[in-house]
Amino acid sequence: MTDRPKLQDMSRRDREPLIHLEPDDLKPLPAPLDDPARRHAWPPLSAQARGRYEAALDDTCAVSVPQPATPEEEQALVAKFLSGLDKLFTRENNWTFLQPLLLSMEHCAKCQTCSEACHIYEASGGNELYRPTFRSELVRRLYFKFVKHGGVLSAWQHGDIEVNWPLVSRLIELAYRCNLCRRCAQTCPIGADNGLVAHELRKLFSQEMGIAAKEIHDTGSMLQLKVGSSTGMSAEVVKDNIQFIDEETSEKTGLTVETPWDVEGADVLLIHNAGEILAWPENPGAFAVILNAAGISWTLSSALAGYDSINYGLWYDDAQFARVAIKHAEAAKKLKVKKIVLGECGHAHKALSVIADRVLTGDLNIPRESSMTLLRDIVMSGRLKLDPSRNDFPVTLHDPCNLVRLMGVVEPQREVVRAICPQFREMAPHGVDNYCCGGGSGFAIMSGHNFPDWRFQVSGRKKLEQILNAFSDCLDPSIPKYLCAPCSNCKGQFRDMLAYYGLWEENRILYGGLVELIVNAMTDVKPGFIEWEWH
Ligand code: SF4
Ligand code: SF4
Repeated sequence: MTDRPKLQDMSRRDREPLIHLEPDDLKPLPAPLDDPARRHAWPPLSAQARGRYEAALDDTCAVSVPQPATPEEEQALVAKFLSGLDKLFTRENNWTFLQPLLLSMEHCAKCQTCSEACHIYEASGGNELYRPTFRSELVRRLYFKFVKHGGVLSAWQHGDIEVNWPLVSRLIELAYRCNLCRRCAQTCPIGADNGLVAHELRKLFSQEMGIAAKEIHDTGSMLQLKVGSSTGMSAEVVKDNIQFIDEETSEKTGLTVETPWDVEGADVLLIHNAGEILAWPENPGAFAVILNAAGISWTLSSALAGYDSINYGLWYDDAQFARVAIKHAEAAKKLKVKKIVLGECGHAHKALSVIADRVLTGDLNIPRESSMTLLRDIVMSGRLKLDPSRNDFPVTLHDPCNLVRLMGVVEPQREVVRAICPQFREMAPHGVDNYCCGGGSGFAIMSGHNFPDWRFQVSGRKKLEQILNAFSDCLDPSIPKYLCAPCSNCKGQFRDMLAYYGLWEENRILYGGLVELIVNAMTDVKPGFIEWEWH
């Protein structure tokens, strides 16, 4: 084990992890988590997991790749890897991302500006393994050696690397140590994209080798295409749940709340991340209150995947991505709606609004809009009667990477929060410079082995620092505080990470969406829509 692994270490044949981080190695946290009494133990990977799965990277296991039984099996996997690598660099197999991938391979100036921007690298105390260019440099060497077939001169110029199963298996795990947040790419002076390199690796492993984290593939996109939602909810179940939410919301608000289903010709097809319906029912309930009160012609869809905006293919597999995106567009086409509006889910925004533009052509190219702009227009139009004093508690706003940095939806949600939250304070930095919650790219739903400890201790650490700094003047538990995160995946990460560090119990930091703040301020609604209870 070494603290400063080198690229060549990735091919090491022993099964010892290259690193094992301890809390002391990590970037220190601000108050109240600077208190040693609130330090969290970080268990090593279990002996059972180390015995069964490939886990020789960093003593953590995200993907649970079984160990090959024979050397022949190992060789076959390496051969598949090299054939997949070749495909990544051909137009017919990778027309979507070939150009930026080539740019990232051939033009990196090795200036390391990107390393300064990466929250994972910074949180790890600057560990080489998590430097954004560590993974990219490995792929670059493989590219020049096996795709460009460079000889001795090329190896001298670009560096050599031995390819074997230990390297490939470590690279599988390393592709899942990046949040795909693209903060590094934003700072790169030439536009090289280390996040894209991690994405392309995940794609290779999934599309060529059938290897992906089970939470985003088996119980993610596969389940969604089979039953309609990666939550496992069929259309009948989701309708039952929404009916229950309508009843609860009616009781809570004093209004009659009804959610319309399958309304042909509606102006808006609203698609929630279905996780909201199960984990945070107040969010779809609040959407219904606002859209009804604003007189919007809207509907939900009960078509396959039409009620779940999740598209995990965005993070690991272009083919799975396209299959789900087409289902979303078909649901809208069937109902002849004027546009699709995406609920509070960042990756769903980017998936259907931006990336799906390459797939949805002809009559599937239905207009798509963010709920952030729709909500801003409703709030600013004066159609709702709002009393900001009902939200008179400290509020900060998290910027989901997919929505903000990667789509430029920065201001609409801020306009709303500024208008209705008198104690709003920004995180530093924020907007397109904000940091990932640490749960991006699927991590928020990946909970195998000791991986959650890694995402709370490492990938979520910088965001945790931002949250604590934003509330540094009001950490006392007598003051309830609201972390507004208009994204289902980010909320999942915050729910788990705030609980892990005891920040609700000890410091009364609650998290929630944007629509809950709006309904909490509506004067037509019974006071107290936001219940200061942990869930
Ligand atoms: S900032 Fe860009 S050019 Fe500089 S090392 Fe990072 S990827 Fe390479
Ligand atoms: S995409 Fe984000 S997590 Fe990945 S290397 Fe870049 S800054 Fe780090």
